[in-house]
Amino acid sequence: MTNLNPRQKQAVEYVGGPCLVLAGAGSGKTSVITRKIAYLIEQCDMPARHIAALTFTNKAAREMKERASALVKGDASRGLTVSTFHNLGLNIIRQEYKTLGFKPGFSIFDAEDARGLIKELMLKDGDLDNDHLNMVQGIISNWKNDQVMPGHALSKAESEGEQKIALVYERYNQALRAYNAVDFDDLILTPVQLFIEHPEVLEKWRKKIRYLLVDEYQDTNNAQYLLVRQIVGDRGALTVVGDDDQSIYAWRGARPENMNELTVDYPTLQVIKLEQNYRSTQRILKAANTVIANNPHTFDKALWSDKAIGDPIRVIKNRNEEVEAERVATEIITQRLNRQARYQDFAILYRSNHQARLMEMKLQHHQIPYSLAGGTSFFARAEIKDVMSYLKLVVNPDDDNAFLRIINTPRRQIGPSTLEVLGRYATERGVSLFSACQEMGLQSQISEAAYIRLERFGKWMMNLSLMAETEDAMRGLREMVSDIDYEGWLHQNASSAKVAERRMENVNYLLDSIGRMLNPDDPSREPLSLKDAITKLILMDLMERQEEEDVQDQVQMLTLHASKGLEFPHVFILGVEEDILPHRNSIEDDNVEEERRLAYVGITRAQRSLTLMLAAKRKQYGEIIDTSDSRFLEELPPEDVEWEGFGTASPEANQAKGKATLDSLLGMFDDD
Ligand code: ATP
Ligand code: MG
Repeated sequence: MTNLNPRQKQAVEYVGGPCLVLAGAGSGKTSVITRKIAYLIEQCDMPARHIAALTFTNKAAREMKERASALVKGDASRGLTVSTFHNLGLNIIRQEYKTLGFKPGFSIFDAEDARGLIKELMLKDGDLDNDHLNMVQGIISNWKNDQVMPGHALSKAESEGEQKIALVYERYNQALRAYNAVDFDDLILTPVQLFIEHPEVLEKWRKKIRYLLVDEYQDTNNAQYLLVRQIVGDRGALTVVGDDDQSIYAWRGARPENMNELTVDYPTLQVIKLEQNYRSTQRILKAANTVIANNPHTFDKALWSDKAIGDPIRVIKNRNEEVEAERVATEIITQRLNRQARYQDFAILYRSNHQARLMEMKLQHHQIPYSLAGGTSFFARAEIKDVMSYLKLVVNPDDDNAFLRIINTPRRQIGPSTLEVLGRYATERGVSLFSACQEMGLQSQISEAAYIRLERFGKWMMNLSLMAETEDAMRGLREMVSDIDYEGWLHQNASSAKVAERRMENVNYLLDSIGRMLNPDDPSREPLSLKDAITKLILMDLMERQEEEDVQDQVQMLTLHASKGLEFPHVFILGVEEDILPHRNSIEDDNVEEERRLAYVGITRAQRSLTLMLAAKRKQYGEIIDTSDSRFLEELPPEDVEWEGFGTASPEANQAKGKATLDSLLGMFDDD
């Protein structure tokens, strides 16, 4: 094993028991995991299908799989599992759905779907504003991460308010069941509980996963840690790597204490520390180290690098946010030429997604190609997902996922308990939810009002389906949208009329596109049937998602959170100001330490140059305010920082400038 340092080599070759690699950014933790996978396959003769590695994002998983495959001979890595925790959970649920009592083809509720459902359930109680809704969703999520089931939450509720939330939790879980769906937290919680209740199933999975490796361990939550322990058992075939200074998901239940816990749970744990940073120049590394030194530390880590000193860190202060974005764009244009770099060598990082909008416009204006991680593509918009679900149902009434998405969008007063009965009935009879609505047998099992509503919905949908086969398909679709008063629904649910209008424009854009597919303006194009048009749209949707994953020469735009584990030659961080980084909420909650770790993550992504951007004035919360420089800027080593731009100068530079002015004044007198 060439070019691993001795500690890395030790971590790779230690297979005698559980192993923790605890080390700072860029020290080769992820590299250790990749190399260890290859080592297990080639030196320990472990078949790849018995090895599982867990990472934090799909992107990281893809990269790790590619690297590990490149390190082994031929197709020896076939069958290797590299995935996120959530993906592993999903696989377990998918394979064990019968034991879990799910119907095949269960759906997954993303945070937005889950929020909608909770809102639905809470509307009955009358009290509802956004903050409250967020809080309830957060509490439910925390309960799930801590293995607290609804009954337990109810019994330990200490106030009436808590009791109310526990009840919402209970109904929420029931509703998910009725929808044959799981939410994001369930992807971990469900397997954990399955393994507790069915030791024989756990045994099966233990036989399958004989060695487990976990990257970014500091960000595992309680449930994820339990899952790790269940799978590993007392065999101790486990390697985890992490950096407590990069723990940035406490708000989502991550527990960096899990690092300590390992020592307790696995007394034979081998702890290996890595200290050489291979990523960044001396100056970038020093900046990262001095900033993070302001946090209290459980583990001491001394990172060093033998790379060049490198360019100073630039801090560029701009008149306002527009100039800030413009400046980043022009910097990229000039630096790309001067440094002979590619677009993909540049990354623009920011604290919150909304900061990306202006930046995107500027990049577009300058025709700089970019890719936006986690951006909302056309098909990912809620209104498009809704209308697409109606369309899917029109062409395939048996699409249960589509049925569930729209049965109460807009509201039809078909409650979770009705859906639960409907779901059970459909499973027993082996028919789709849609067909179950039409069956007489259902009538005796639900209230008459509910039955009438379902039946009415079924008939209406049936008519649409018939119409879709005729010349009048387009008219049918437009009638469908007005029948359900989708526009009214958008207005009810949007934060402003303008937002609702924009959403409706998207819907009309979708309908117009379908119209053109059915009756192309261009005579050389074959008109499609509605069914084919919709299938084509579904395919386009899938393809768009695929393309997002393609690597091209593009500037990378991503949130600081999403940048974890990645590295880029040149990094810009936007909005290094108080209230942004550190975020206002964290300042108010006295949680600046987590923000400092986030800044540390951002700084340590940079290999060769780091530019910190800020604006003197910025529109925030609807008004233009004077900003203040982030406290993290003061924590940077002043000798390695160069300030530029609007109204700024480092204290030294200010002093120098003062002297210069004085000198020139004196000079004037001299002339006299
Ligand atoms: P992070 O904390 O940001 O996730 P990490 O500890 O996982 O960082 P890696 O991403 O594995 O670090 O490695 C950082 C960089 O250093 C990579 O470009 C990697 O190829 C390189 N590297 C790692 N080990 C060595 C080594 N022994 N010799 C040379 N380069 C190395
Ligand atoms: Mg890493």
